[in-house]
Order: sequence, then C-alpha cells, then structure tokens
Amino acid sequence: MPAILIDGKSLAADVRASMKNRVEALAARGVRPGLAAILAGNDPASRVYVRNKARACEETGLRSETHEFPDDVAEAALRERVAQLNADPRVHGILVQLPLPRHLDSSRVLAWISPAKDVDGFHAENLGALVQGRPGFVPGTPAGVIRLLEHAGVALAGKNATIVGRSTIVGKPLALLLLQKDATVTICHSRTENLAAVTRQADVLIAAAGRAKLITGGMVKAGACVIDVGINRLPDGKLAGDVDFASVSAVASSITPVPGGVGPMTIAMLIVNTIRAAELSIA
Ligand code: NAD
Repeated sequence: MPAILIDGKSLAADVRASMKNRVEALAARGVRPGLAAILAGNDPASRVYVRNKARACEETGLRSETHEFPDDVAEAALRERVAQLNADPRVHGILVQLPLPRHLDSSRVLAWISPAKDVDGFHAENLGALVQGRPGFVPGTPAGVIRLLEHAGVALAGKNATIVGRSTIVGKPLALLLLQKDATVTICHSRTENLAAVTRQADVLIAAAGRAKLITGGMVKAGACVIDVGINRLPDGKLAGDVDFASVSAVASSITPVPGGVGPMTIAMLIVNTIRAAELSIA
C-alpha cells in the first residue's frame, strides 16, 4: 500500500485560520502583531522565503516589514537596525534570514535580538529554554515537524525517532522536542557510519541534511513515518527534498511531500510565535 501523504500545506492553512480569534482579540486592544525580517545579501532562495513569510503575515492579519541590506553590509549597520527594531513597539517579532553573508557571524548577530522578539527561536536564551524544558520561542521548522506528526496521529512515546542532520536550526532543536515527546532519539550527520543501518531502525525518520534524494527506499523501515525537511534546488531548477519520494513512499506508511510538507508549517509556526510575542508584550 502506498504511503499516506501528510499534507503540510492544508495543515498550515488550518493553523493560520485558527489564529483569527487571537488576532482579533489583539486588535480589540489596539495591537496588530508585527514581524520585521532582515534580509542581507542577494541569495535568491532567501528572497523567496522572506517574501513568502511576508505574504503569510498579511494573509493572517499581521503587519510585516522587510529590511534589506547589501551583501557587504557593515556589522555595525545591522546591529543598529536590530537595536531600533528591538525598541520599536509596533514590531513584536524580528527574524534575521539565514544564511548571512560570509563576513558576518550569525550567532553574534542573532544574540542582538531581544529574546522576547526572537520569534525564530535561535537566540541562546530561547534555545537554552528548550534544553531546560522552560517556555520560550521554539524554532519554526522543528515545531512544525512536531505539529505534522501529531496531526498525522504518529505515535512518538517509546518509538525510535531518527533525524538526519544536526544543525542548530533544525536537527538539534527537533531532537529536544522529540525527547519531550518521550521518543528514543538518534541524530545522524555527515560523519555517521553506515547511515542506512541506522535509518532502517527508525519508526519516525526525519531528513534534514540538505542533500537531494539522500534517503532511498532501502534505508527505510517498512511502515515508518518519513518527514522530509530538505529543500534542494536541482540543476533543472526543480525543488527536491532529501527523500527519494518514489522509492520511499512504497515502503513508508506516511510521508510529507516537497514542496507542500514542512515548508508551509515552518511559516505557520513563525506566525504563531509572532502572535504570541504580541500577546506577551501586553500581558
Ligand atoms: P545544514 O547544512 O546546516 O545542516 C545539514 C546537516 O546534515 C549537517 O548536520 C550535516 O552533518 C548533515 N548531513 C549533510 N550531508 C549528510 C549526509 N550525506 N549524510 C548524513 N548527514 C548529512 O542544513 P539545515 O539548515 O539544517 O537545513 C537542512 C535542509 O533543510 C536544507 O535542505 C534546508 O534547505 C532545509 N530547510 C528547510 C526548512 C523548511 O522550512 N522546510 C527550514 C530550514 C531548512
């Protein structure tokens, strides 16, 4: 039986629609949630992501603004803008689109954002809260993956959940969220020996390596749930995930597509975080 498709696009639309009451409650108190995105350089994918985030904000009743800087932007100029946005009461969430131009150190830049406005959840204070299990802003992609798994009714407690990829924005925070759900978590990475032997043990397999079609049917346990975080541009211009959809969907019980899986959920969770930041700003 072919795998069931987990539809991130429609779940993301539902999540955003479910925010309507909260946006209206804020409006009744004279607050419109506002998200400021900082975009430095000319990376075409980053431009598309920032545009999609701005569009989703507007569709959900949030205000959005984009602050663009050239590729050779001075660190001081970025720092000054972040400080202005930290102080601006109309801005409840600030995101710095990654990757930054090479001469900038992203963790230094992210540390300037007020943790109360860090709706991407990349500030050390929010990541630390996640490690300690305290409330804070959780990064959108890992939070979106958990929502997709819950929506699909995938059991996590006691199950083997394996993540391929150990980045600070996806793999590591996702491992912590899966631990909170009582999964037995394994993180694989570029130095993992015999990747297929590890991934074949997974009841839930999450691919976040940034390598097109890295995960093939032979690497997947029969009946596993497979979540594809990867977004890779192929030479022909098409988008591909990290999962070879054709061979894996013949083995898995459920699977997310690319596009239309994790991507829209990442944006929906960013919107949820921005609304929450606005609520906390007047609490
Ligand atoms: P990254 O480059 O920071 O990290 C990639 C990780 O994968 C590293 O830990 C590396 O060790 C591991 N890896 C690379 N090649 C591997 C291999 N052959 N075998 C095993 N592990 C390997 O990437 P990232 O920022 O975490 O993003 C990962 C992917 O997810 C990218 O394709 C990115 O575009 C995508 N992404 C999607 C969303 C979304 O909203 N859907 C959000 C963020 C990132």
